[in-house]
Amino acid sequence: MNNTIKTIGFIGLGNMGKPMADNLIKNGFSLKVFDLNETVLGQMQAQGATVANSPNEACTDVDMVISMLPAGQHVKGVYLGTGDNAGVFDSLDPSTIVADCSTIAASDAREVATAAKAKGIQFVDAPVSGGTGGATAGTLTFIVGGDTATFEQVKPVLEAMGKNIFHAGDHGAGQVAKICNNMLLGVLMSGTAEAINLGVKNGLDAKVLSDIMLQSSGRNWTLEVYNPYPNVIDTVPSSNGYNGGFMSKLMLKDMNLAKVTADDTGVETPMADQARSMYTEHVEENADKDFSSIMAKFDDSVLK
Ligand code: NAD
Repeated sequence: MNNTIKTIGFIGLGNMGKPMADNLIKNGFSLKVFDLNETVLGQMQAQGATVANSPNEACTDVDMVISMLPAGQHVKGVYLGTGDNAGVFDSLDPSTIVADCSTIAASDAREVATAAKAKGIQFVDAPVSGGTGGATAGTLTFIVGGDTATFEQVKPVLEAMGKNIFHAGDHGAGQVAKICNNMLLGVLMSGTAEAINLGVKNGLDAKVLSDIMLQSSGRNWTLEVYNPYPNVIDTVPSSNGYNGGFMSKLMLKDMNLAKVTADDTGVETPMADQARSMYTEHVEENADKDFSSIMAKFDDSVLK
């Protein structure tokens, strides 16, 4: 365990935050937790965490703060405040290090980092890859944006929840790297589904075609471990009615964030635009289905 960081305020104990907090407790850290959901607070209390009544209380008398919140508006609300509500940064002891692990726009992460700097608070954006499975197993990939000294200080704590801890660059770089990865994943998943459908509609067996592409130049992560066609890989969501996994609405959220980042910087992303428009239509009826269910855009029988 890290020599200096022992106590952690943890805000946002949802599908990702709860198992991440569980792993911190398992690794000997003391937690003060806050969430809007009282049920999860009761569960955390039973595991030995101290329950706080507000974000500010969770961030008092701790060495570090970690947040795992749905979107940029929640992160800015907690740290910067909203309307008459003071944010955590208004009263936080400047010796407290803050890591936001939520997936938010790089511009929002930079705004929060700038506000932290004005108060003398060390802040990093540290979004994750690996989903709920990785959060539970403690094998998440953390992609950190911030200065090197702060990165080195938070690294041992992130190692209690993850396997690969990357320093992507300065503030916002963690979010940019995460969004580039997920934008590519959305394109790869859509393209793989399109190729398999073309083969199947021309009489090929989806598994035979997938095996051929796996040993050829179309090889990619979705073919290797997350095939979108049912019953090619037994253990993935496509072989289980597209349940579990990474929900299509979360993929769309990340593709929309990529679009915001691209627009902010005047960069064109035509391939991602196409995949994003497919996911936009797809989530109208399949928001909670795994993102590999984009297969149904090409062959709707897979969802029946
Ligand atoms: P979630 O909706 O399950 O959990 C969010 C939690 O935040 C909820 O418990 C909610 O009550 C709490 N919350 C909301 N506003 C709050 C506030 N003001 N104060 C305190 N608590 C508040 O979401 P999740 O799936 O855990 O995702 C969290 C973040 O991780 C998101 O940014 C998401 O994009 C990212 N992410 C999710 C996955 C995934 O597979 N679910 C994978 C990688 C990254």
